[in-house]
Amino acid sequence: MTQQPLLPVEEARARILMGLPTTGIESVSLRDALGRVLAEEAIARRTQPPADISAMDGYAVRAADVAEVPARLRVIGEAAAGGFHDGKLGVGEAVRIFTGAPLPRGADSIIIQEDTARDGDIVIVNEAARQGQHVRVTGLDFRTGDAGLPAGRKLSPADIALAAAMNLPVLAVHRRPVIAFFSTGDELVAPGTEPGPNQIVSSNNDGLGALIAEAGGVPLDLGIASDNEGEIRAAAARAGDADMLVTLGGASVGEHDLIQRALAPAGLDIDFWKVAMRPGKPLMFGKLGALPMLGLPGNPVSAFVCATIFLRPAIARLQGGDSALHTTQARLGSALPANRAREDYVRAALDHIVDELPIATPYEPQDSSMLSILSRAGCLVIRPVGARTAQAGETVTVLPLRA
Ligand code: AMP
Ligand code: MG
Repeated sequence: MTQQPLLPVEEARARILMGLPTTGIESVSLRDALGRVLAEEAIARRTQPPADISAMDGYAVRAADVAEVPARLRVIGEAAAGGFHDGKLGVGEAVRIFTGAPLPRGADSIIIQEDTARDGDIVIVNEAARQGQHVRVTGLDFRTGDAGLPAGRKLSPADIALAAAMNLPVLAVHRRPVIAFFSTGDELVAPGTEPGPNQIVSSNNDGLGALIAEAGGVPLDLGIASDNEGEIRAAAARAGDADMLVTLGGASVGEHDLIQRALAPAGLDIDFWKVAMRPGKPLMFGKLGALPMLGLPGNPVSAFVCATIFLRPAIARLQGGDSALHTTQARLGSALPANRAREDYVRAALDHIVDELPIATPYEPQDSSMLSILSRAGCLVIRPVGARTAQAGETVTVLPLRA
C-alpha cells in the first residue's frame, strides 16, 4: 500500500476542489430554487418601482405649497395602489394618496396622514415638507437590465423574493450533484434492525446523507458492504453516473480496511491518503475511473468532521458555488492543551453573548466515536498545527456547525 506523508488540511482541500467539474445547468421555478446555486446572473426584467410612488398613506402635494404651515390645499382626487390620479396638480392642490400609488403629475412630495386634518374638500397641512419626502423614485430598488444576483449565488429566501420582483419566475441553476456513498464493516447493520451481539448500528449512512442534502447535493445511499473486496467493488459499481463517490470506513491500515485494496483493480487512482488532522487522519482522495472518490474514516465523528471540512466544500464547488469554510472567532470557555502535528477540530459548545464574541467551550472527552457530543456541539474549535496552550478567554477560530 502506498505510504505517503501527512498532507496539510488546506492543501488536501485544495487538491480535492481543483479537479472537480461543475454540474450542468437546469431551469427551476422559484418554488424549487431555495438553496440552489445560480448558474447565470439574474438580470432584472423590469424597473422597480416602475413609477415614482408614495411610501405612505397621506396627501400628494407640491412642497412649495406647504413651505408655510398650516397650509390649506384643495383635494382634487384620490389614488390608491393599483390605480392612479389622472390629472395634474396645480398650485394649492393635493391628492389623497395611499401607499404604493403612483405620484400624480405635478406633485413632488407626500405629507403623511398624521400631519394633516381634513375639512370637506380642504386638507390642512400642519408640517412643512422636504421636497421628495416619502416618495420612492422610479428604479429605487432596481432597473431593467440590472444584475440583481450574481452567478454562483446560493439562493436564500430574500434572493428568491428579489428574483420574483425582477419578474423572473424561472432561474438557471446548476444541477444538484449526486453524491453516492456506502459504509463498510462486518459489524454494521441498518438502523431499525436488531443488532447481533457484536454488531453496531450504522450511523454514518443517514448522517452523511443528511449532510449531503443540507449542502445541496442529492444523497445516493448505497448501503453497507461487508469487509469483503468483492462486496466493496460491487457497492462502488452501483455509484453509476454519480458526481462523486464517498466511502465510509475501511480507509485505515488495519487488515480489514480494504477500500484501497478492493478498488485498485477497479481503477482507483489515489491522489493522496492521510491528512494532518484530528479526527480523521486516514482520509483518502482519488479517482475511480473518471469518478472523484473520497474515502472517509469510519469513526462517526471523524466521518462527520471530514465531510464538513472536505465534502461540503466539494458539493459547493460541483455546483459552481462558494466552497470556502466560513469560520469565525470565539473566546475559549476553558483551556486547551498545546497542539502537535495535526490540525485539531475540537467539538465545543457555542454560547452567544450580546455585544461580545461567543464563548466556545470544548467538551470532554473528545473521542471520535462520540455522537452524543457531536450532536450537542455548536462549533468546531480549529487548533492549528503546533498551537501553544490556549487559556480560557483567548480568542480562537471556530467553524460553526449550525446556521
Ligand atoms: P474503520 O474506519 O472501518 O476502521 O472504522 C472505525 C470505527 O468506526 C469502528 O469502530 C467502526 O465500527 C466504526 N464505524 C465504521 N463505519 C461505521 C458506520 N457506518 N456507522 C457507525 N460506526 C461505524
Ligand atoms: Mg471497518
